[in-house]
Amino acid sequence: MEKKDIASFDYEELKTEIIQMGEKAFRGRQIYEWLHVKLADSFGEMTNLSKQLRQRLEEEYIIPEMKIIEHQVSKKDPTEKFLFELGDGNMIESVLMRYTYGNSVCISSQAGCRMGCRFCASAIGGLKRNLTVSEMLRQVYKIQKRAGERISNIVVMGTGEPLDNYDNFVKFVRMASDEYGLNISQRNITASTCGIVPNMRRLAGEGFQITLALSLHGSSQEKREKLMPVAHQYELKDVLEACDEYFRMTGRRITFEYSLVEGVNDRPDDIRELTHILKKRNCHLNLIPVNPVRERDYRKPDRESALEFKNKLEKNGINVTIRRERGSDIDGACGQLRRRFAGS
Ligand code: SAH
Repeated sequence: MEKKDIASFDYEELKTEIIQMGEKAFRGRQIYEWLHVKLADSFGEMTNLSKQLRQRLEEEYIIPEMKIIEHQVSKKDPTEKFLFELGDGNMIESVLMRYTYGNSVCISSQAGCRMGCRFCASAIGGLKRNLTVSEMLRQVYKIQKRAGERISNIVVMGTGEPLDNYDNFVKFVRMASDEYGLNISQRNITASTCGIVPNMRRLAGEGFQITLALSLHGSSQEKREKLMPVAHQYELKDVLEACDEYFRMTGRRITFEYSLVEGVNDRPDDIRELTHILKKRNCHLNLIPVNPVRERDYRKPDRESALEFKNKLEKNGINVTIRRERGSDIDGACGQLRRRFAGS
């Protein structure tokens, strides 16, 4: 019989498992605490359980392996990158960013990605597989443990499309914000999507307080299609309506992300169209000068043009910032994750 992943059970599920083993419910509580508060990597660490119970757990369950096989520290800013090897040999990356308001971890939601955005390095090798709930959680746990500092914020903006791994992603949010676990405030969790409309609508109904970030990148249907294949499947009009529904249902302001690509989406037309789209919405626009990816021919506008783009939008009444680049010397910047290790 294949061993079950014990770290992907939520509190209720774990209690049920443990009761079915003939143990008392409070053992479930203890084990949950070992896994999700004390961040244990093995049953051997769970010293308040009997040896016998630890042995049985060992026989029936696994805590999936996640080895840190590389750890890079930026010299430019307080950013660190971690490369994990999963039990089946897949690799994923996560980034730790320290801010004045606290520590934030950027996690991956899939090994690879099948969305194919033209400027994104994660798209190049396609999707390998979805990450399990525990593989998402334990990126945060492992980093918290290694850094010896509390993680207070999570951004799901690494490799993968969280809404293409919907059920695991939603369970991940529940467990990361669970009072019996790390208890990270949902308001400190942001998930970024390329715009999978049906799942954006489902997410709006989950009762979460997380921030939804929408990768816009083009100010019209036509321009989005050029940069993001997923735009052929979901029209901009419908994506924006789904954003509105998310705001209506949760009261959480949408963040729009816009990777600035020189000569492609940084023209006066784009300012006009973006203003038209965003002016009537209670939202925030985050400009990300595109990080060049070796395999792609896209360039970022120079600092001055990016500032001008931002200032013009601001004059038009748009709430806009240029995202500070972090960890560029360790390939920690958006879209560069994992690529160097993907075997090509
Ligand atoms: N699948 C999710 C999360 C992906 S990464 C999504 O599409 O939103 C998070 C953000 O980084 C997205 O907005 C993505 O479009 C952006 N991004 C990817 N590659 C980039 C690059 N090379 N330069 C700048 N931004 C990039």
